[in-house]
Amino acid sequence: MKIKTNITRYSNVILFLGIFLFSIPSKAQNETYAVPSKQDIADTTFVNLKDYSRDFIYDMKYATEDNFLKAKVYDCAECFLRLKTVKALIAANNDFMKKGFKIKLYDCYRPLSIQKKMFVLVPKPEYVADPKKGSIHNRGGAVDISLVDAKGKEVEMGTSFDFFGFQASHNYTNLPDAVKANRKFLKKVMIENGFNSFDSEWWHYNLKTGLKDKVSNQKWNCE
Ligand SMILES: [Zn+2]
Repeated sequence: MKIKTNITRYSNVILFLGIFLFSIPSKAQNETYAVPSKQDIADTTFVNLKDYSRDFIYDMKYATEDNFLKAKVYDCAECFLRLKTVKALIAANNDFMKKGFKIKLYDCYRPLSIQKKMFVLVPKPEYVADPKKGSIHNRGGAVDISLVDAKGKEVEMGTSFDFFGFQASHNYTNLPDAVKANRKFLKKVMIENGFNSFDSEWWHYNLKTGLKDKVSNQKWNCE
């Protein structure tokens, strides 16, 4: 009963205020209740790609045992990147979608501790960056990707992901024309959207403006 009385009392107050204040613009109120938009955070903040787009296909190899480490080194299959990398990647994916394709993700941000494990197994800088210098993956500016067609089928790229041989190179030309065209298409759209390719791996792209960001070893929240 008391609650009802209070509600009645508040209603009267609101009605009273409403009569006298209805002509005052409500700008101040809107500002008070405004929720900070995603654009308000710094471009270098680490974010989860799926909070910004649901248009990507996930095949995060290091969250499974299906990788050259033969170990599941990520607790969950999420794609974390700096916000500026996410923005550029979404722009690239929009371009691919206009042509009937989508980006498939193999790897995104990679903690430095995982980079160290990888370099022990493959100490070749043309395939795995030296953790002393840090990979662009450790800086939240690199992605390992392929493309899928409208039916969800991965396009033919000539080798599997993380194939550490010369056939994975952009400079290797002894490939069917369709494969060469697929690699070229991937590279063209990524470069148009602010990424650089990496000669020895057709799947690797890093944001041009991400080279000087700090190396990170943070782990993401898997909940
Ligand atoms: Zn890579």
